[in-house]
Amino acid sequence: MTPTVLEVAREAQGRVRLVVRGAVQGVGFRPFVYRLARRIGLSGWVENSSQGVTIEVEGPKARLADFQWQLRSEAPPRSVILGIEAAAVPPRNEPGFAIHASDVSGAPTAIVLPDVATCEACLREILDPRDRRHGYPFTNCTDCGPRYSIVLALPYDRARTTMAGFTMCRACAGEYADPENRRFHAEPNACPACGPRLTLLDASGSVLAREQDALLGAADRLRRGGIVAVKGLGGFHLMVDARDDEAVRRLRRRKRREAKPLAVMVATLDDARRVALPSETERALLASPQAPIVLVARAGEAVAPSVAPDNPDLGLLLASTPLHHVLLRELGFPVVATSGNLSEEPLCTGETEALERLRGIADLFLVHDREIARPVDDSVVRVVAGRELVLRCARGYAPFPLSLARPLPSLLAVGGHLKNTVAVSVGPRVVVSPHVGDLETEAAEAAFTRTVEMLVRLHGLSPEAIACDAHPDYLSTRFARDDGRPVIAVQHHYAHVLACMADNELAPPVLGFAWDGTGHGLDGTVWGGETLLVSDRGFRRVAWLRPFPLPGGDQAAREPRRSALGALHELDPALAERSPLFGDAERAVLLSMIRRRLRTPLTSSAGRLFDAVAALLGFSGAVRFEGEAAMGLEFALRGLEGGERYDFTIEPAPVPEGDSACVLDWRPMLGQMLADVARGEARGEISLRFHNTLAEMIVATALRRGVEAVALSGGCFQNRVLTERAVRRLREEGFRPHWHRRLPPGDGGLAVGQILAAARSLERS
Ligand code: ZN
Ligand code: ZN
Ligand code: FE
Repeated sequence: MTPTVLEVAREAQGRVRLVVRGAVQGVGFRPFVYRLARRIGLSGWVENSSQGVTIEVEGPKARLADFQWQLRSEAPPRSVILGIEAAAVPPRNEPGFAIHASDVSGAPTAIVLPDVATCEACLREILDPRDRRHGYPFTNCTDCGPRYSIVLALPYDRARTTMAGFTMCRACAGEYADPENRRFHAEPNACPACGPRLTLLDASGSVLAREQDALLGAADRLRRGGIVAVKGLGGFHLMVDARDDEAVRRLRRRKRREAKPLAVMVATLDDARRVALPSETERALLASPQAPIVLVARAGEAVAPSVAPDNPDLGLLLASTPLHHVLLRELGFPVVATSGNLSEEPLCTGETEALERLRGIADLFLVHDREIARPVDDSVVRVVAGRELVLRCARGYAPFPLSLARPLPSLLAVGGHLKNTVAVSVGPRVVVSPHVGDLETEAAEAAFTRTVEMLVRLHGLSPEAIACDAHPDYLSTRFARDDGRPVIAVQHHYAHVLACMADNELAPPVLGFAWDGTGHGLDGTVWGGETLLVSDRGFRRVAWLRPFPLPGGDQAAREPRRSALGALHELDPALAERSPLFGDAERAVLLSMIRRRLRTPLTSSAGRLFDAVAALLGFSGAVRFEGEAAMGLEFALRGLEGGERYDFTIEPAPVPEGDSACVLDWRPMLGQMLADVARGEARGEISLRFHNTLAEMIVATALRRGVEAVALSGGCFQNRVLTERAVRRLREEGFRPHWHRRLPPGDGGLAVGQILAAARSLERS
């Protein structure tokens, strides 16, 4: 019941100043505070600050308490409150409640939010012929739209975004200023009269059409099998009719992307169901505000075979910006939407750059005049063991703040070499950059440097030290060494396990399985099938897969039969000498390399063991992208069940400290597998037994150690079958298995692990 005037007067008055820290900018937090204060009947003000949001409220003390309670309990859904500091201040008796201009003093510790897919309300307007934003490709509100891809500096205000150059028209300014409007302080607010506009360019950069005509022109070209570069939220997509096999092949040729699956964009969930069989969880992910690419079982013949050759899955995503909604609805069919770059290079973000780098790939360029502050790729997720597993952390997910139990020293981590991401610690959290890519080209190197600078500058940091991989030759490692700050080198697989622990909020002791392609080992061999026991102080390598020779080293990643030859040689040199995987001359050269240890490291890599098995089962000669052969193995057993497996042994291994360790010897398995192949056993069955054997190796190792918490990390655990079997079997044996969620199990998660390892080593010294 509303108190009477007299009662209010008798109540004790007060004023508090609240500093709200966390992801509270660009999520409609100030309008929420404004409405809450007015509803409760408090005066004061709210403003964005470098630290987050600062509020002063004044009124009866009981209502101040209500206000603070509801501030937490009713906060906007996309905000993340990490802490609220409250302090009593003297009352001022000002009338009403106001939103102040931003306070830019102080070191920025607020968090930049990821971009958010178009919300229901905005979509309704775009599709409503009577709405003033009907068909407008750049609308948004406080619940949706660009954030990270347009922010130039903090605090998050229009003046510090790439929307600064657009002046709001009367109607837009009215919405922006109206506390009852859902565009109240929506920083990138825009409409056809005042906001960004489309242009259609030909390959030489000449303007063909503008606005609606530009969209129709692009759609027309797509309908006729053309390739159109579309400037989206965080960069260019290359688009082509996904039903048109010939057109898709042309795109592959021009992009020099031979076989790697291409993502397909559809307008709605109903359209998604016409080309794939998304489960309930997968549908929820597709339609989520993050709107990632979701790997879903494909269905029907609607999508051309060349989109994802020999692949039972489809990388599917829904339109997530107004531009994509409008374009996809105009088309009425699914399109391939692959990143606008040559294979493995980072995304193009500017028109000039796109015209230059995509010359010879795209027929037309659909562009607009809202600048992209920095590139953001599409994210990729897959459902594993019933929940989301992020394989590539980018648009919608990154920059991703991971909360920790305690504050860390200020650190920068530069990640690995492939699928690079970088990370910084900001107080009690780690902020992970979006996916940068493989640091193999100049363009990727430049994107890497920009990402590091941006992450450090946006958060106003001066890191005490830089953490990097222990591999001396990684480009990221050299960057760290050249920087001049203290460098902390972190063993690759230790970083993997720590990342998985952070992703699952695990405290030591943890038994971590880090299985991947390759990582720099501490004993001169190439690691990749490691079991690490992580304690409070560090880690010990307690088990690994039996090492085998890898003729040509890194070259083997692209040619699985080299791994096969090495593994055969380890089983029985005579088998390697007879292997039909190579012609006589080539085999002789490789075998002599193996015998003389010439450019032939030993590796305990699980990824290379996968490659070896895939090659022996005839999945691939030369692999066109890393992991292709292993993917073939996983696909081959789809739909098969059963617990049959091969034999393996566990041998004690001497370690320097005199402590116990063991080697998982896969040779019995390989021998039985070869016999199966010789008997003509189906490849799917053999693959199933292989996966089951690996899961049993994990269980057997865990049983020897008896540590309850088990972490599964490294690129091999992108494999759904391996992860699900290992998880199920570990649970059956009484362990608590953990695998990745929001951080990729592959090298995209390394930077987080590096930060944690570096913090541990600083604390010890
Ligand atoms: Zn919206
Ligand atoms: Zn306007
Ligand atoms: Fe790795």
